[in-house]
Amino acid sequence: MDTCSKLELYGGAYSSKSASVLYPIPPIGVGEGHVESLTSYIIRLAEAHCVRTGDLFSNILFPYLNKSYMLKGGYRFYTSAHLINGVTGIAYEFIEMLTNFTGIKFIDELTLIRFKNVLPTRGLLRSNKAWCPYCIDEMGNESSVVFEPLAWSLQAITVCLKHLVPIEDNCPSCGNKFLSLDGRSISGHCPKCNGWLGKPSTSCGARSVEDWEIYKAKLIHELFASGMEFNNKKNVAWTLSRLVATYTDGNVSEFAKLLGVPKTTLWGWYGGKNLPTLEDVLRICNKCDVNLISFYSGNRGLNNHGFVLAAKRINKQDVCLTSKPIQKIGKSLKRLLMNRESMCMNVTHIARKLRCNKKTLYKYYKTLCKYQTRMNRYYQTASKGIRLTKLNAEICRAFTDLVGQGQTPTVSMIEKQLNRPNALREEPIKDFYERLRMNA
Ligand SMILES: [Zn+2]
Ligand SMILES: [Zn+2]
Repeated sequence: MDTCSKLELYGGAYSSKSASVLYPIPPIGVGEGHVESLTSYIIRLAEAHCVRTGDLFSNILFPYLNKSYMLKGGYRFYTSAHLINGVTGIAYEFIEMLTNFTGIKFIDELTLIRFKNVLPTRGLLRSNKAWCPYCIDEMGNESSVVFEPLAWSLQAITVCLKHLVPIEDNCPSCGNKFLSLDGRSISGHCPKCNGWLGKPSTSCGARSVEDWEIYKAKLIHELFASGMEFNNKKNVAWTLSRLVATYTDGNVSEFAKLLGVPKTTLWGWYGGKNLPTLEDVLRICNKCDVNLISFYSGNRGLNNHGFVLAAKRINKQDVCLTSKPIQKIGKSLKRLLMNRESMCMNVTHIARKLRCNKKTLYKYYKTLCKYQTRMNRYYQTASKGIRLTKLNAEICRAFTDLVGQGQTPTVSMIEKQLNRPNALREEPIKDFYERLRMNA
């Protein structure tokens, strides 16, 4: 039986909710940072059965859900269909239904449901489709399976980490925006004009990508790739209380100032009454140098960072200190370390800035000095990471351009195209180029 007749057979008239009603096509990227979204999976599922996405909905999915508002063409449903990828009841309904229909066990991984107790819905998902044209184009060329990573459905994601270009939400052919999912959705194409989305729009290169956007994308990528469950709501308040203890000696108002949020907002998070949005948490991570995994998992990650330990020892040293100048130095030191810009300084720089001896700092503020050394190292690695990611993206684009012109991109051709002699000399960059060449 071919796929189309199979779907017709079951369309609206199936009697059991058994598995294998639909083909169990494998979801893409499960357990990885670029894991596919559930809305993307549904669109591919319709294509695998050679039917329109809308027909899959009206013949199979809507009747199963048995909700009257989904009838009448389901327009009202489609305007909120992006929530299928999210943290609320509709995500549960779709996970359960598609698990039953396909027999695939880890459909939940294609949504944010594992973050339901720590992520509020506010500011979480975008209702319109957004995509990286370079990724779409690569998928179209390489494997012909075009899918949308779950990350693209997040409002916090504004750039593609692989190509370092802004992600787009206007069709390059007709200029329209459109919903993440509706009856006319087709992978990699605009549902309004059927244009191919793997083509950068004219405005694509106009905006340069900021480090802050790359930072956010990196942290979210790490979080998705961690494969961890983050279901303890208490972890958020717990992590915040540790950060307040470390950064402002337990003073919540001071910490609110440090973050630049209203005091009452912070109290709401701190007391577990409200949850900070993903964007809020990313800002806290940036200010306090924790990653999303540490933030949402609470205890474990933070202990690895030594925050709790540092906070305890600082208190002890304060008690022991009697000499006023040393205390003054301590105060200036803490003030300095609270400032994010101090991350680029090592202890020698800091001692110079405070006009004191490095040994004195180590003697009285050993924990803080060690903490600073660790932060400084983290900063150096992170800056290097961002620099390499940017360079890789440039090389990737130059490589694709040259191939597009029918040439075989050599090291010197790429360096010439980038106008950066010796750009490919560094070991990790060399490796990256080799991988590109092998995959070409
Ligand atoms: Zn991309
Ligand atoms: Zn279009």
